[in-house]
Amino acid sequence: MTVAASTAALGTSAAFAQAMLDEKDAQAVALGYVADAKRVDAKKFPKFAAGQNCANCALYQGKAGDKAGGCPLFAGKQVTAAGWCSAWAKKA
Ligand code: SF4
Repeated sequence: MTVAASTAALGTSAAFAQAMLDEKDAQAVALGYVADAKRVDAKKFPKFAAGQNCANCALYQGKAGDKAGGCPLFAGKQVTAAGWCSAWAKKA
């Protein structure tokens, strides 16, 4: 819960605070989401390349500099800027 605790202090960039996505959430597990891209299992996800994270994913809804933001794949939850999942797509 440390991520949720630190994110709660981030302030008001979101209209109202959303819960942080738990890596153990069924959808998170299905997509291989981790809150820290450094922990991506490169054997399991060979397409992962260092430097990819939610902050530079096309689907990420947080603003630059935010520690967390929404992701349409995980409705109602926030993913960490430093996170990653197997649906990562390069931001245009
Ligand atoms: Fe992060 Fe993109 Fe996966 Fe959403 S789709 S969890 S923003 S890597």
